[in-house]
Amino acid sequence: MRIALIAHDKKKDDMVEFIVKNKKAFENEELFATGTTGKLIQEATGLKVHRFLSGPYGGDQQIGGLVAQGDIDMVIFLRDPLTAQPHEPDVTALLRICDVHSVPLATNLGTAELFLKSLRDKIF
Ligand code: PGA
Repeated sequence: MRIALIAHDKKKDDMVEFIVKNKKAFENEELFATGTTGKLIQEATGLKVHRFLSGPYGGDQQIGGLVAQGDIDMVIFLRDPLTAQPHEPDVTALLRICDVHSVPLATNLGTAELFLKSLRDKIF
């Protein structure tokens, strides 16, 4: 399973905690991430993560490109709904391209937990 992981700044601690807590479920998956999110996950878990540019510098678009090509199976994107993002158009584009290609997209921890359950149950 090729999983993309992205977290806005105020959600990075949540993302790292989520991956650390569930490391076993993620260690056999292929992980992709925007620059800073990926760095923090790597440092906290030692998991291998393919890192792209930081989100505001084009990382969301790079991941969106992979989604469009059919190279990503699942996206966990912990968005900060309370802070304006300079790269909002890129964020919207990524959400849109996931919908275009019916790629499962979790934008909060509640949905991410459901995805995790699906991973464990090998539903995907
Ligand atoms: P980052 O990008 O992981 O490089 O911080 C995430 C984002 O804000 O889109």
